Amino acid sequence: MTDLIKLTAAEIAAKIASGEVTAVQVTEAHLARIEAVDEKVNAFLHVDREGALAQARAVDEKRARGEKLGPLAGVPLALKDIFTTKGIPTTVGSKILEGWIPPYDATLTRRLKEADVVILGKTNMDEFAMGSSTENSAYGPTGNPWDLTKIPGGSGGGSSAALASYEAPLAIGTDTGGSIRQPAAVTGTVGVKPTYGAVSRYGMVAFSSSLDQGGPCARTVLDAALLHEVIAGHDPLDSTSIDAPVPPVVEAARNGDVKGMRVGVVKQFRGEGYQAGVLQRFDESVELLKELGAEVIEVDCPSFDLALAAYYLIAPSECSSNLARFDAMRYGLRVGDDGTKSAEDVTALTREAGFGDEVKRRVILGTYALSSGYYDAYYGSAQKVRTLITRDFEKAFGEGGVDVLISPTTPTTAFPIGERADDPMAMYLADLCTIPTNLAGNAAMSLPCGLAPEDGMPVGLQIIAPAMADDRLYRVGAAVEAAFNARWGHALLEEAPVL
Ligand code: GLN
Repeated sequence: MTDLIKLTAAEIAAKIASGEVTAVQVTEAHLARIEAVDEKVNAFLHVDREGALAQARAVDEKRARGEKLGPLAGVPLALKDIFTTKGIPTTVGSKILEGWIPPYDATLTRRLKEADVVILGKTNMDEFAMGSSTENSAYGPTGNPWDLTKIPGGSGGGSSAALASYEAPLAIGTDTGGSIRQPAAVTGTVGVKPTYGAVSRYGMVAFSSSLDQGGPCARTVLDAALLHEVIAGHDPLDSTSIDAPVPPVVEAARNGDVKGMRVGVVKQFRGEGYQAGVLQRFDESVELLKELGAEVIEVDCPSFDLALAAYYLIAPSECSSNLARFDAMRYGLRVGDDGTKSAEDVTALTREAGFGDEVKRRVILGTYALSSGYYDAYYGSAQKVRTLITRDFEKAFGEGGVDVLISPTTPTTAFPIGERADDPMAMYLADLCTIPTNLAGNAAMSLPCGLAPEDGMPVGLQIIAPAMADDRLYRVGAAVEAAFNARWGHALLEEAPVL
């Protein structure tokens, strides 16, 4: 039975469909795994044992009635605690939402349920998705299954750790500046930030609305594609949702091939601050792509050097506005409501107690950047940089003629828990390579490309595609994954120490 936890989502779905195993058996195996290891990993904030088993039973009954099952029916999934789940706590990793039970499902949650995906529970994350290590969670850090003393990435560290520790074959993340891709890179898993607007934000707690994007996390490229297809698509409840067909991601993942493709290496993504072993594995990936028949060229994106600075004005500005709704009157925590204090005082006391340091830092920064007199100098300038970054991408994909761009996903491998906790600038650098894609709104994937020789920790390769060309990520990703697996003789994650 324990072998069930090692299967891919595609394999699990096939075994359930053929009757070789039941969805209940698969769910029980994963719940047992969570019980055995999650005390150490802390990937989950909430495990919905009863709900998961009920969903699994429903799948088995459907099959018994002879109804057709969807491609992921009965497959367990770990859901980032940023998506609302009716009747199940949703905390966003914050004390301020402790005890809040959402009265509705996010569109993404609803789609998962309609596809008969079994939701095991809600995963740990940096508070309001602000961070790169999951250390900003109000509920304690998550460990990296490769080395529990190291971070699993952030903000979606719970989701990446659940995959790498075989607690779930599928997970959901959200990526505002890298929170799907960076956790994937440092845990040896696959994560995709779809084109902005591809996956509905309805019921996804807002951090920075013009950047936030939900997406699939998995252990293989095909599994990510299968999940992508379930969660993407137009939603009238989200005004920024794209009303166009979902690119053929599953077909692309089944037909990995880079022959004749033009692959651009972003010149800006190396140099000072990059770990030698990360660059070594990246350079090997470039060689691999050439061997597989791709034409590799260097691409200059000069505005990318300004991306981090622009992001850390735009994201805090939008967060200062979005988080204004947490006023102690509407949701969750309320502190000091003893009948003697004004509403303003109760709001202030609740925010003081309910928000962590990083959230407060960003609200203050954003409020300042948006204040009249500073707006043009800070927020306005950052928006201009955003346009320049979009133009760099357009130039590369347009007159530059590249099909995809590639880079390391992160400058370094997973760092020790605590190392950057008191150094926000060092923490922010973890997203150096992922942020430009969020600012421009196009799509990107991270997938494993080996272990860094100096510390034996996973390295991620980032593939970047134009907006609405998400299928290219899967076509290239599947080819790279197959070639690496053939070279190593197994999937990278099989080298992870067993917990
Ligand atoms: N690490 C980045 C930040 O702290 C990105 C977070 C994210 O993508 N949610 O803002």
